[in-house]
Amino acid sequence: MEHTAQVTLYTLLMSDRYQKHIDTGLLCYLQSDQTQGVAVRRSDLVGIIMRRNELANDILKASRTQVLPPMLKSQSMCRGCRHLNVCTIYHKAHGGSSGSSGLGDLFDSNTHHLTNAHAAFLRLWDWLIDLEAKEMQLVKNEIWRSHNSKSDYAGGCLSSVVLDWKLPYSKSKKDNRFVYHFLRNGLPSLSERTSNGDFLNAASSPTKEVDCALRCGDFVILSSESSHLPVASGIVTDISHSHVSVSFSKLLRLPGSSPSSEASHLLEEIWRVDKDEFMTSFSVMRLNLVQLFLQSAQAAHVRKMIVDLEAPRFDKGRILSQDPAISYVLSQRNLNVDQRQAILKILAAKDYALILGMPGTGKTSTMVHAVKALLIRGASILLTSYTNSAVDNLLVKLKAQNIDFLRIGRHEAVHEEVRGHCFSEMNIQSVEDIKLRLDQVKVVAVTCLGITSPLLANKRFDVCIMDEAGQTTLPVRIYLVMDV
Ligand code: SF4
Repeated sequence: MEHTAQVTLYTLLMSDRYQKHIDTGLLCYLQSDQTQGVAVRRSDLVGIIMRRNELANDILKASRTQVLPPMLKSQSMCRGCRHLNVCTIYHKAHGGSSGSSGLGDLFDSNTHHLTNAHAAFLRLWDWLIDLEAKEMQLVKNEIWRSHNSKSDYAGGCLSSVVLDWKLPYSKSKKDNRFVYHFLRNGLPSLSERTSNGDFLNAASSPTKEVDCALRCGDFVILSSESSHLPVASGIVTDISHSHVSVSFSKLLRLPGSSPSSEASHLLEEIWRVDKDEFMTSFSVMRLNLVQLFLQSAQAAHVRKMIVDLEAPRFDKGRILSQDPAISYVLSQRNLNVDQRQAILKILAAKDYALILGMPGTGKTSTMVHAVKALLIRGASILLTSYTNSAVDNLLVKLKAQNIDFLRIGRHEAVHEEVRGHCFSEMNIQSVEDIKLRLDQVKVVAVTCLGITSPLLANKRFDVCIMDEAGQTTLPVRIYLVMDV
């Protein structure tokens, strides 16, 4: 039923895209190699649209009032529902009970471990995520209101750009993506410039006008200025004072244009490239948050530290023992007393250790020595920070110490000095090669939001080191703590 409804919705999208009435579709199951036809019935379509409207209404209400819709009170449906855990936890956090859930003992067995303090914690952070999401939405709306080019640049966007008519796009062999080249409207083609990128006609140089906050590796949204419609999401692969190249997973298509006129419409269109500040996935944050309240032993342990604020434990006995990692730290003459104590604290931590230091006090160097000491113990380490630049800053120092590591991240966003440690620069031929490399390497580095990469889905680490942890919010960090 779920899949049939999905196909029915796709026929709506396709009817809109191709301006034709489409009333049938195919449902293909790759695993069982079964295919079945789906005929769209008007009554089904009406039912789906009504459910869609109810859902949209509930989401809107929940985001405004923090009141979730009531549970279905159906033992048969809820028992098999994959959202049962999350649904019952939220229901309890918002004052629900086994009676109001309609699930009786099933509800109690899922939520009996949650205290009033846990419920209050979940409500508070859920509310904070809501506030942040609303703020982001306001910024997003502002994109469409703003047409002042100068203020656009400060906000990380480039308006009034056109496709380079001599070379609108090229196909990247490396990742099979389509790289489109945009110029400020009215400027000559890239191919009409000197080899260093300057314009042949110096009088037309746009240096001042096109300076903006976009950088290589930024996620961007491309939209049409005439219709104000977002057309595609891509990644900036190259940018200068006069042009920007953006890679997309598919060829660009303008809504409503026919295949025969598509190419000319794309060239005539005036475009706008906006930095996608909204990649931070609020759904990931919510998912992280609710992980804290599941019933597993790991969730209970992390919950004690984060929600119940139980003090972290340290292995004092080990400091006095003959641990080669400790010997290493004590032998490093270039470490000052504070740095040495910080690393010893990390080595003694059973749960976590927080290292606080003012800028310039040598935190990053301390981390490098901490990594070396942990590697002496044979630990596997997840290295992370909120931004790519902070992660790479640490990695450049590790590289200088000949420490092997793997960097997970988009090639364009990674510092060129450490790109050689990305999968994109390795001779990877198969999934087996990826698994082998992940098994071999002891240090893996990724940004906090990149931790959800499927490459790391089954990977567990002994230790997680997070640089500049104060830059992130708690729901972003939870996933990292749950991963070790
Ligand atoms: S568990 Fe929650 S989401 Fe799932 S069917 Fe029941 S009420 Fe709906």
